[in-house]
Amino acid sequence: MITDLQNKFTGCIIGTAVGDALGAPFEGRRIPTGMTAKELLAGFRDLPTYPKGQYTDDTQLTIVLAESIIAKRAIDGPDITRRFSRLWERGTIIGAGGASSFAMREYLEGKKTWDQCGAPPGQAGNGTAMRAGPIGLWHFDETEMIPESATIASIITHRDRRAVAGAAVVASTVAYGITHPRVDPVELIDLLHSVCSDINEEFAAQIKNLGTWLGEDEEQAVQHIIDLGQIDSFKGSWNGRITAYVIPTVLIVLYYFLMHPDDFTTTLSKVILTGGDVDTTGAIAGAISGAHNGFGDIPIRLASGVKDATALRELGQKLYEITLEQIKKKS
Ligand SMILES: [Mg+2]
Repeated sequence: MITDLQNKFTGCIIGTAVGDALGAPFEGRRIPTGMTAKELLAGFRDLPTYPKGQYTDDTQLTIVLAESIIAKRAIDGPDITRRFSRLWERGTIIGAGGASSFAMREYLEGKKTWDQCGAPPGQAGNGTAMRAGPIGLWHFDETEMIPESATIASIITHRDRRAVAGAAVVASTVAYGITHPRVDPVELIDLLHSVCSDINEEFAAQIKNLGTWLGEDEEQAVQHIIDLGQIDSFKGSWNGRITAYVIPTVLIVLYYFLMHPDDFTTTLSKVILTGGDVDTTGAIAGAISGAHNGFGDIPIRLASGVKDATALRELGQKLYEITLEQIKKKS
């Protein structure tokens, strides 16, 4: 029998891949004017030279992180780094961000150890938040562990505190979504604010603002979030939409998740149709809403049409099993 909790684990992993693969063909491109949620969700579009349903680095690194947790029964920095680096060594990583590629080059050239190879502070892209789902799954029953584990899993590629905070926020939201049948926006914002305050005040302040923006009209709220990302290092490439800066990336997902917590397809389509770095915003929306609502709420044509669907489901299942084993061992 498949339990509700099992469904949430597989929902998080498959949700990541579905959001990533739906968004990837539109990454950094204009979303066609007037495109509806129904059109977007009808099926995967072609990503040139790849099979239909192909996901990108967001899901690849999420998979590797989950595999490392399964192998090590821990968030093991050196092991995760070795596994990440193989994707660069083999040239199989798809659409990697600048900070992650920099870090893996430093690591593979033997210049730096796993905890020193990450891009230096100042580079606060969304590359850590996009792969944080498994951290929330693994620690769903011991959320006080999330900040430390998010730090270990993030500094491999990004040593900026905002990037660390982004991963902690995504993982904490996944854990909250699993354990709370009903999402209370005020409670979740308070929780995320307190998680974030210990890591990065700037990120924490924007989490607080989200509480205000939820009460505004949608267009205005989304514009506030888009505006956060228009900083020098990111604003050039994303058509004035959601940039790859970690703060707006995470906030746009939280905004639509809090607006539609029980509706996977609405959260995911609204996030992607906002435009910008949409493979990553899609991946995070899929992880968070997939964890809360479970595998069964992901349209089956997408859940079974995404590349490696069966293997991804098995990965979620395996992570579920070892997480429960660990909980039993402790009690
Ligand atoms: Mg990507």
